Amino acid sequence: MKYRRSPTAMPVPPRTPHTHTVGPRTSGERPDRTVVILGAGIAGLAAAYELERLGVPVEVLEGSRRIGGRISTFRFGDSADAPFAELGAMRIPAGHSNTLRYVAQLGLTDELRSFHSLLADKNAFLRTAESYVRLRDAARQLTAEIAEGLSQDTYRPESLMFGAWLTLVVDAIAPPDQRQDLRQDLRTRLLDYVERLNLAPFVRDDGNAFDLHGLFAAHPSLREACRDPLRGFLDDILMETSTELFRLRGGMDQLVRRLARRIHGPIRRQHEVVGIESRPDEVVVHLRAEGRHVVRRCGQVLCTLPFSVLRGLRLTGFSDDKLQIIHDVRYVPATKVALHCREAFWQREGINGGASSSGGRVRQTYYPPIDGDPAFGAVLLASYSVGEDAELLGRMSAAARYAAVLADLAPMHPQLLRPGMVLNAKSLAWGQYPWSHGGCSVHWGMDPAAAEEQRMLAQQPQGRLYFAGEHCSSRPAWIDGALESALDAVSRIVMQMPAALPDPALMREPSLLAEPVSPVEPDAAPICTEIVG
Ligand SMILES: Cc1cc2nc3c(=O)[nH]c(=O)nc-3n(C[C@H](O)[C@H](O)[C@H](O)COP(=O)(O)OP(=O)(O)OC[C@H]3O[C@@H](n4cnc5c(N)ncnc54)[C@H](O)[C@@H]3O)c2cc1C
Repeated sequence: MKYRRSPTAMPVPPRTPHTHTVGPRTSGERPDRTVVILGAGIAGLAAAYELERLGVPVEVLEGSRRIGGRISTFRFGDSADAPFAELGAMRIPAGHSNTLRYVAQLGLTDELRSFHSLLADKNAFLRTAESYVRLRDAARQLTAEIAEGLSQDTYRPESLMFGAWLTLVVDAIAPPDQRQDLRQDLRTRLLDYVERLNLAPFVRDDGNAFDLHGLFAAHPSLREACRDPLRGFLDDILMETSTELFRLRGGMDQLVRRLARRIHGPIRRQHEVVGIESRPDEVVVHLRAEGRHVVRRCGQVLCTLPFSVLRGLRLTGFSDDKLQIIHDVRYVPATKVALHCREAFWQREGINGGASSSGGRVRQTYYPPIDGDPAFGAVLLASYSVGEDAELLGRMSAAARYAAVLADLAPMHPQLLRPGMVLNAKSLAWGQYPWSHGGCSVHWGMDPAAAEEQRMLAQQPQGRLYFAGEHCSSRPAWIDGALESALDAVSRIVMQMPAALPDPALMREPSLLAEPVSPVEPDAAPICTEIVG
C-alpha cells in the first residue's frame, strides 16, 4: 500500500547519543512564524518569495541537488553561449498572466520571444502511414486518409480538412488511447457536426492548411460536441499548438534562478522529505539529509511536493479525504530526448523552427532556435512524448532510448547518422524521475465541476500543513497553475497568522508584488530541530 488511510501514529526512529534537541517554546516567547516550504520548484520558490515580501520568514527544503523541479534547462557545456535543451517547461501561453507577471517582476520581459509550435513551420514533417511529407503538402494525404475510413463520401472538402488537421495535432500530442477516441468521434459525430458550419473562413493556404484555433474560438459549441476524453484534452492541444506562445531566450530556468536569488531564507538542497506528521499544533517533517534522518518540528509547513511523490511517503494525521485525493490525482508520464548536434542541419532543409509530427515512439520533434553562438552547435529536441509513448521510452536505459529515437528519426532526418553530427544527448523521463514520478497532473476526462472539486480537496490544508503545486490549481500541467496555487496558499497562510499583516487579498495586485511590504524579522525564533541519526 502506498499511503496510509488512517491517521496512525508514526514511529519516530530512536534517538542516538548524537541527538540534538531544541526544546519546546516557553511561554512568553514570540511564536515562530517561519514557514517551512517543501520543494524548490516554481510553486515553492514563488511562495517563499511572496511570504518574505509579506514579512514572513521562510526556509525551503529541496530533496534533489537542483532547484526548479519540472522547469529544467540542460546546457551542453559551461559557456554562456552553449546550446541548451528545455527538458521540462518550454513555452508560456500569452494568456498565462501569473507567469508573465513573474517574468516581468524578475526583469525577464526583454527575453520573451515567440515560441513556434507544431504547424508553425510548413517545411516541418508529418509522418504518414508509409513515409514522411512536408506539412505544406500534408493536406491531400491526410484528407484522403480520413475519407478512406468513412462510410459515406458526401462530406465537403473543408469538413475533411477540419478532420485532417484535428487528427494531425491529436496524433502528435495525445497519448494513444485518445488518438483512437478522436478517430471514433470524428467518424461518428464531429464531421456531421461541422458539415452544418461555414468552414470557408478557416481554410488557409489555398486549401493546404486549416485554422483549428479560429474555428473553436468562433464556435464554442463545437467543443461541447467533442466527447470525453477528447474534450478534456482539447484545451491543452489547442494551447500547445497556439500561435500565441512565448519562450525565454537563454532558458526557462532563468525564472527559478532569479526567483531563488531574491529569497533571503535558506534553500537547502538534498533534504529529502520521507514522512510528514500533521499534529494539531505543529507539523513534524521527517527528512533524509547528508545520510542522516532528521526530524523537523515546524509551526507551519507548505508542501509543494507532487502528490505522485507524496503518496509514497509516510503520512500521519491526515484525514481520509486528504489521503484519498493524494492517491487519486492522475499523473501522466512525459519524456523528452534532446540531441546536441554539430550544426542545425534542418535549416539547410528549410526548417527554421516549429515542430514535426514524427509518429512512432518519437511523436514530436522540435527545432529550437539557437540563442547562443552557432559555433557551439545546435540542439534538436528529437522527441517529446506523453502517456504510454513516454512510458515506453522512459522504461528504457538512456542508451537504448537514444538508439530508439535515432532509429525512428533517421528516415526523416538521415543527417543524424552522419559521423560527428550528434555530439551528445540528454533525456529526461519524468515518469521515472524520482522527484516527480510523473510528467504532470491532468484533469482529462473530468467535467469542470469535478475538476474544481479535485482542486479544492488537493489544496485543502491539514491543520498547519498547507499545499501548493500545479496539482492544486485550476491549470494543472502549466507553470501558471503552479503559481496560482502558490499565491492561494500564501493567502491562506498569512490569513491565519496573528501578527498584523497587509490584506492578503491585495497580494494579487501588481503594486504589492512590486515592493516588499515589510522586512523579514531577523530575530524570529528558530524552528525546533531534532537530529536523530
Ligand atoms: C515535459 C514537461 C513539459 C512541460 N511544458 C510546459 C510548458 O511548456 N509550459 C508550462 O507552463 N508548463 C509546462 N510544464 C508544466 C510545468 O513544468 C509544471 O506545471 C511546473 O513546473 C510545476 O511546478 P511545481 O512547483 O508545482 O512542481 P515541481 O516543479 O515538480 O516542484 C516540486 C519540487 O519538489 C521537489 N521534491 C520532490 N520530492 C521531494 C521530496 N521527497 N523531498 C524534497 N523535495 C522533493 C522536486 O525536486 C521539485 O523541485 C511541463 C512539464 C513537463 C514535465
